[in-house]
Amino acid sequence: MNPIPEEDETSIITEESIRIEKKQSKNNIEDNKDSYANNNNENSLIQSENNINKSNITEEINNNINININQKKNHLNNNKKNIKKVIKKVEYKIILLGEFNVGKSSIIAQFVDNNYQKIEKQKNCKNKCKSIAVDSETVAKLELYDSSGEEKFNKTLPNQFYKDAYGAIIVYDITNKESFNKIKFWINEIISKCPSDTIILIIGNKTDIKERVVSYDEGNLLAQKYQIEYFETSAKTGNNITLIFEKLLFEIIKKQNQNETKSFINERSSQRKSVKLTEKKNNLNRENNNENNNPKSKCKC
Ligand code: GDP
Ligand code: MG
Repeated sequence: MNPIPEEDETSIITEESIRIEKKQSKNNIEDNKDSYANNNNENSLIQSENNINKSNITEEINNNINININQKKNHLNNNKKNIKKVIKKVEYKIILLGEFNVGKSSIIAQFVDNNYQKIEKQKNCKNKCKSIAVDSETVAKLELYDSSGEEKFNKTLPNQFYKDAYGAIIVYDITNKESFNKIKFWINEIISKCPSDTIILIIGNKTDIKERVVSYDEGNLLAQKYQIEYFETSAKTGNNITLIFEKLLFEIIKKQNQNETKSFINERSSQRKSVKLTEKKNNLNRENNNENNNPKSKCKC
């Protein structure tokens, strides 16, 4: 038999002790609850503070991004405005004249497309364009008018072809005397059908061919006779092709500036005349008014 254990005072479980214990644990739970709640509040406070901080930061970042985007947009718009402001486009009609087969279409093809071989497909091409920068603010668009082969059948070109031309390039072939002899005819055509200030150039083409029948001096002398500038080119190699169009453009702009200055001076002098006239009128009116308003004025004494 097992001995009955001696009852320990501390181990005696009484109703009272259970009650006390219950109360204590109840208090503990309440305490825990409080501290849990406090902790929770603190945590949530920290969390919400964090959240507030986070949302502040996000807001700030968003604001910064928006400011950046707006700044960039403004910058872009300003640039666009500046580009629109800066670039000025001017258009000039240029006509190419001369006998059949001298190389007019080849010159245009070489200038516009840097391609001499493409000429067969581009025969009788009309109205090709190329833009050249005049300076940082101006771009000139050259509209190049080629004949449609009328010259082959000795047909005259329509008046519309000459109309409003700023520049005219007369081309002849240095290996073909007949084309050279026809230059005078083309000059007369331009003088009678183009605007009076059309700039003319004379071009001796096909310099890449050794067997020439017209010398440089012959061509130059004829041009000098008409006070026209003379150049020699090769549409095949591209020699001097860009140069002649740049030269023509330069002369056109120079002429335009001269014309503008002239019209400005005329305008000013006509303004000065009209000022003098109105001054005279005003003086007259003043005299009349004096006479009418002041009866004494009639008095001669
Ligand atoms: P267009 O009738 O005045 O328009 O003359 P084209 O441009 O059609 O040229 C007539 C022929 O001359 C073509 O066979 C061209 O290949 C040739 N040609 C044009 N320019 C030159 C050149 O500078 N040098 C040589 N060797 N041939 C050229
Ligand atoms: Mg042609």
